[in-house]
Amino acid sequence: MTKLSTDTSWRELAGSLRLDGRALIDGQRQDASNAQTFPSISPIDGRHLVDIAACTSEDVEAAVASARAAFEGGQWSRIGAAARKETLLRLADLMEEHGAELALLDSLDMGKPIAQSTTVDIPGSVETFRWYAELVDKLSDEIPSTPPGTTALVTREPLGVVAAITPWNYPLEIACWKLAPALAAGNSVVLKPAGQSSLSALRLGELAVEAGIPAGVLNVVPGSGRIVGEGLARHMDVDAVAFTGSTAVAKGLLESSGQSNMKRLGLEAGGKSSNLIFDDVEDLDAAAAKAAFGAFYNQGEVCSANSRILVQRGIAEQFIEALAKHSADYAPGDPLDPGHAGAGALVNSAHADQVEQAIESGRNDGVIRAGGRRLTLNGSDAYIEPTIIAQLPATHPLHHTEIFGPVATISVFDTEEEAIELANGTEYGLAASLWTTNLSRAHRVAARLVAGTVSINTVDALGLTTPFGGFKQSGFGRDLSVHALDNYTGLKTTWIQHG
Ligand code: NAP
Repeated sequence: MTKLSTDTSWRELAGSLRLDGRALIDGQRQDASNAQTFPSISPIDGRHLVDIAACTSEDVEAAVASARAAFEGGQWSRIGAAARKETLLRLADLMEEHGAELALLDSLDMGKPIAQSTTVDIPGSVETFRWYAELVDKLSDEIPSTPPGTTALVTREPLGVVAAITPWNYPLEIACWKLAPALAAGNSVVLKPAGQSSLSALRLGELAVEAGIPAGVLNVVPGSGRIVGEGLARHMDVDAVAFTGSTAVAKGLLESSGQSNMKRLGLEAGGKSSNLIFDDVEDLDAAAAKAAFGAFYNQGEVCSANSRILVQRGIAEQFIEALAKHSADYAPGDPLDPGHAGAGALVNSAHADQVEQAIESGRNDGVIRAGGRRLTLNGSDAYIEPTIIAQLPATHPLHHTEIFGPVATISVFDTEEEAIELANGTEYGLAASLWTTNLSRAHRVAARLVAGTVSINTVDALGLTTPFGGFKQSGFGRDLSVHALDNYTGLKTTWIQHG
């Protein structure tokens, strides 16, 4: 499938999609070794999409063995960066050509509006592959200063077999954040997508084969985190795990690495990011509009969602009113309506139950200033209104626990010092935003916020050229930019003694 014709709706197209839930191991689509499956259910309307292979430990063994054989065989790892670049650019072209299909798979799987998967997730995924493809043949290694009569070469080497374990909130895009630099550097990869959203990863694997990536260099092994994810994390022949997901699972990966072969870890974990609005903000309404985006975009299912809004007392009431007005832009609607730019469905009913419980605790202990209702659309109850909760006690868990849904809490502060203390008063350190026209304050506060990314007079800024990742229990390692290569390469020093 390439493009939509003007008289085809996304819903019709969804009905005609060829869905294939089989794993991709050693270049072949295949069932799980014991033929077990689990159902993929769309949160958009509760429709059963397809059964996905519930891969086993044997499948993990087969995928790792294939990845290792491909790496040692050198048909990818040793062909040189320029040759890898050409193949990865072909893959990016194929992804673009099949962009409508990939966008639809992500929307069907996890409920995000098609208007967003077509304009944000898929173009972002394609660009990620293009960027790393174009990067790798322009890097130079080092020849440092050494004593006369010697030369030392410092070269960046691929690690070998990389396992990528990914979440469901940006199914294709976060997978590409891992795969593009790992493959560009010459590694083989075993990708384990989230159970809720395996379809675009499996299709990507097929496109990789079509692009000419040799069999075994990219394997996609769907299944449970406990069996496939942990199987990879504990495997003695996996050299690195690149993970995005919850802090709880990230901590388990640290143990798995330590108890197996001390494999290298890149951990992009949870977040609870603050947005600080000072009373000298230039345009309060524009800041409120961006704050609503920061908290509610992608149904609030964003690791760096700015879900803790801290506002200075003098403008608090005016700001909350403006935020409530702009939150309406993120009202849930039919994700397959291309004209709907608001929110879609949450990933599933069970997750919506948890978000609803969080809202109820906010209703009991604070004041709901917008939203607060769970909705049923298309026969699915996975839709929740963007919800703003104010007047919670400072120690209330909603200020500190990641909800991963369309829920923002408001705290009011008086001084800069108090704002910094509130913002840093969490176990996470992924992102933070601040709004002020005072340049000195902008620098002073940004320098003291413990966060991997600080956005000034915008929210949650992100780009391919800049590293993304966290401090504290948001993890370590960085996605995006040249720095991501550190997750997938090791430095080798080769000394030469002249004759
Ligand atoms: P999750 O429950 O931690 O799952 C992430 C991945 O880990 C899934 O593929 C999951 O598989 C797998 N997994 C589960 N248990 C495992 C185990 N014992 N060993 C190895 N792998 C295991 O997270 P999620 O619910 O998918 O995503 C939401 C979380 O991701 C939030 O906390 C969010 O903040 C975080 N996130 C962080 C970033 C970032 O860049 N920092 C970006 C996006 C999301 P199954 O679920 O299929 O079993």
